[in-house]
Amino acid sequence: MEILTHPKEMQSKSLSLIRQNKSIGFVPTMGALHEGHQSLIRESNKNNDITIVSIFVNPKQFAPHEDLNKYPRPIEQDINKLKELQVDILFKPEVEDMYPNSFLTTVEVQGLTNKLCGLSRPDHFKGVTTICTKLFNIMIPTISYFGQKDYQQALIIKRLVEDLNIPMKVKIMPIVRDHQGLALSSRNQYLSEDMINEALKLNQALKLSKEWVKEGVLDPAELKIRISNFLLKSTHIIIDYIEICDPQNLEPLNYINNSLFIGLAIYIDKVRLIDNAIIEY
Ligand code: AMP
Repeated sequence: MEILTHPKEMQSKSLSLIRQNKSIGFVPTMGALHEGHQSLIRESNKNNDITIVSIFVNPKQFAPHEDLNKYPRPIEQDINKLKELQVDILFKPEVEDMYPNSFLTTVEVQGLTNKLCGLSRPDHFKGVTTICTKLFNIMIPTISYFGQKDYQQALIIKRLVEDLNIPMKVKIMPIVRDHQGLALSSRNQYLSEDMINEALKLNQALKLSKEWVKEGVLDPAELKIRISNFLLKSTHIIIDYIEICDPQNLEPLNYINNSLFIGLAIYIDKVRLIDNAIIEY
């Protein structure tokens, strides 16, 4: 596996691969790799000549009070995992090379970003779209892979790619969960065993919601109350949001028909966790 750190060097490499007619699959990550990331990488390996993974903990998507400094960075472990997965190239840039002192540009998608996670993390998606635009211009991928775990992010990236005519496909891969149903996340490392038991309530609420919808609960307000009552049985959970939306555009639904997106965000002892499900019925 080749490890490249400089954006110019990475871009030259991608241009030379494109000249050789190679398809490039790209998986952007912040590292602390788990089975969720690995599912994206395996899909890229299956469908492309070359797979590039980036590891970059992007400061622009963290608010000052968030966990930028304590975000896990087990780089040696990550490199070993990527080698095992037979990734072709790891792009691991330094912050000062991605954001030199002269840097002045922000890329922003409107509308889709000012709801759900955008309300409690106001500048987060601006950071995401700015770094992803840079990474797409450096990697020039044929397809980029994103997880449904961050469904709002994936929809925003799809909109960005379409609106700015970025010549690339976006593929959204299903949420990978552990054996108990907890959606894998690098931030799960912050959870003690007791907190994990609380965190499991997220997926339990989503499963219950599926049953309730099947039983005929088609009023989003009623569904929200049921989810809220279930989650708040635990005194350790603080709800950030419970949203029932149209999966295409994340607009709130007044009535449930055909399909719905349920997005959940909670805090357990200051650790913020998100989960979601798309229900078709
Ligand atoms: P991150 O390193 O958290 O920025 O995530 C990098 C990519 O992996 C994003 O597209 C995430 O949506 C995706 N991802 C993270 N966790 C999971 C998961 N449990 N299942 C599927 N994809 C995931």
